[in-house]
Amino acid sequence: MLQIQSFAAGKWIAPSAKARPIYSAVTSDQIAQAGSALDTQAMLDHARNVGGPALRKLTFHDRARRLKTLALHLKAHKKPLYQLSYTTGATHADSQIDIDGGITTMLVFASKGRRELPDAHVYLDGELEQLSRNGTFMGQHICTPMLGAAVHINAYNFPVWGMLEKLAPTLLAGVPAIIKPATSTVHVAEAAFRIMVESEIFPEGSIQFIAGGSGGLLGQLNAQDSVAFTGSADTALMLRSSKHLLQNSVRFTAEQDSLNASILGPDATVGTPEFDLFIDEAYREITTKAGQKCTAIRRIIAPEALVNPVIEALSAKLDTVQIGDPAARETTMGALVSNAQRADVQARLEALSTEAKRVYGTNKAPLENGAFMSPQLLHCANPDAAKAIHEVEAFGPVSTIMPYRDLPHAAALANRGGGSLVASVITHDPSVASTLAMGIAANHGRLYFNDRDSMAEATGHGAPLPHMVHGGPGRAGGGEELGGIRGVMHYMQRTAIQGSPRILAAVGQTWLPGAPIVEAKQHPFRRTFEELELGESLLTDAREITLENIEHFAHFTGDTFYAHMDETAAKANPFFPGRVAHGYLLLSFAAGLFVEPNPGPVLANTGLNNLSFQKPVSAGDSIRARLTVKRKTKRTEDYGEVRWHVELTNQDTEMVATYELLTMVAYTQ
Ligand code: NAP
Repeated sequence: MLQIQSFAAGKWIAPSAKARPIYSAVTSDQIAQAGSALDTQAMLDHARNVGGPALRKLTFHDRARRLKTLALHLKAHKKPLYQLSYTTGATHADSQIDIDGGITTMLVFASKGRRELPDAHVYLDGELEQLSRNGTFMGQHICTPMLGAAVHINAYNFPVWGMLEKLAPTLLAGVPAIIKPATSTVHVAEAAFRIMVESEIFPEGSIQFIAGGSGGLLGQLNAQDSVAFTGSADTALMLRSSKHLLQNSVRFTAEQDSLNASILGPDATVGTPEFDLFIDEAYREITTKAGQKCTAIRRIIAPEALVNPVIEALSAKLDTVQIGDPAARETTMGALVSNAQRADVQARLEALSTEAKRVYGTNKAPLENGAFMSPQLLHCANPDAAKAIHEVEAFGPVSTIMPYRDLPHAAALANRGGGSLVASVITHDPSVASTLAMGIAANHGRLYFNDRDSMAEATGHGAPLPHMVHGGPGRAGGGEELGGIRGVMHYMQRTAIQGSPRILAAVGQTWLPGAPIVEAKQHPFRRTFEELELGESLLTDAREITLENIEHFAHFTGDTFYAHMDETAAKANPFFPGRVAHGYLLLSFAAGLFVEPNPGPVLANTGLNNLSFQKPVSAGDSIRARLTVKRKTKRTEDYGEVRWHVELTNQDTEMVATYELLTMVAYTQ
């Protein structure tokens, strides 16, 4: 029998005499036990005093690189996780969602961390705010890592994905985690955790693990700690209403269950690709993980005339389900996690059956041993009068079909869930999509539209993606996770910083207009990435713009817009004093003014951001450019990105244009 251990303050701790049993979903035999006597205060101290400081020494990019190494390390060692996963009732395909899905989620965060976060310790949130007339007092929002521990409480259904989807943004933010998985599948989570901690890729104290109950941990948290909970609405309510958490304003995010809906568009009649797609999506949501997915379709909402065809087609598809040993490749649906979970689903099925008639499935267990259950399809003819079908989540292979009269009715039914993680709409009609989006988006964390155009590549109703927000309002817990870099911000504090540009530049680790500059002694394009300093600046010579230049540029490029060519027409335009130079002519001349023509450390100009033309330039005016190093970010082994603030001014030092120029600069000459 497996002895599942906790990992606390750098040590593995064996189960205590009070450990809880863990059963195989397939044989119902006890296979493991978990539950250690833990000093949770020592765990918190370890996270706060050892893990946190070590993580905060690293930049976002350092942590992102380690995250990638960690994900690849897990990938190389994942095989035993699959073997363990079968004991939870998961098929190979289910385990791929859990194990490979979790690893991919971590890889996406690693990649986004390097592309979207700075190679710094501070994240700038939004643009500078001009708080004073002369620009000597400015505002900037910044985000810095919280100084405590992130406590992750996970549900049983995806022991690996559930752990990694929370861990990736937490570590990227620079915050240590204490992970408490659900006990019924903790043996899988512990095996994955062991691979991570033994790799020593993240510093000591970055991750700790609780097998079994969390003891007094939640009562010891303070405002620098956070709790990210995934599980049932009942447990979430019990935990989040703790007086200690409320009194100490401990951040608490809940991802809980919801009565997710899938709506068949009125255009998606029998014979259309959308009708078949709808059946495929519903089938997949009922059978994957034997329906134990927080995002599974619990309510199938179809036009009145299509209810019977949907029942027929879905029943025919459910006839093809192969229920059996999850480890066998031909099996398409495994077991529920335990006999206790099956009993819970059956009790909820009875509650639903008071309002809906079973049209598919039997009470008889498909296999003698283990927590197997046949798929169940219910039909509720009067969903307006019903209550339970919109409120009771049977966390298993159970779904209820109901009719709608028109789109407002379909929206009203979807919204009866009281806030859900996801709703899908299968339609090829854009007006159906936009009407339903306005009707139901506010009640849902995610809307999934699918049709013949997207079906070959669509990721499925039930799949939360690391790029997109996961969570939902109301019944779904009101929480939010994932969503790319948004997910990292849940573990950081946003702070409004006010001060002079010089102070803001130092705090934000980024030069900004108004902060001191250092006049370049050498052309900055001759300097390597390492040599360039924030605030290093070049002021070019001036260049006069002639009418000949404007006409040449117009004919050369084909841009003969009247503002450049016709004095009378240009004068009549409220923006121009008469014929003016093309904005792109000014940019091209600016490049000509600041370029260093010989091969050197500057490798390429990769982009230009936030271009704004502020004053027209007429023939006879002259322009010059000021180029200042704003931010540096290492990108590869050989080169990094340098962002320059560029200002074009005229002969009267009036601002003509500003923009941010992006270049790649080599580390060596
Ligand atoms: P659960 O019974 O609510 O348990 C969730 C977690 O809370 C488990 O780790 C559990 O640990 C822990 N827990 C229970 N009491 C606690 C306490 N007093 N102090 C600290 N932790 C405590 O849910 P579940 O049965 O594992 O998962 C199924 C439910 O989760 C379904 O309703 C499903 O819809 C929902 N879910 C939601 C999402 C989402 O992202 N929204 C994802 C997956 C699942 P023990 O196991 O040790 O009791």
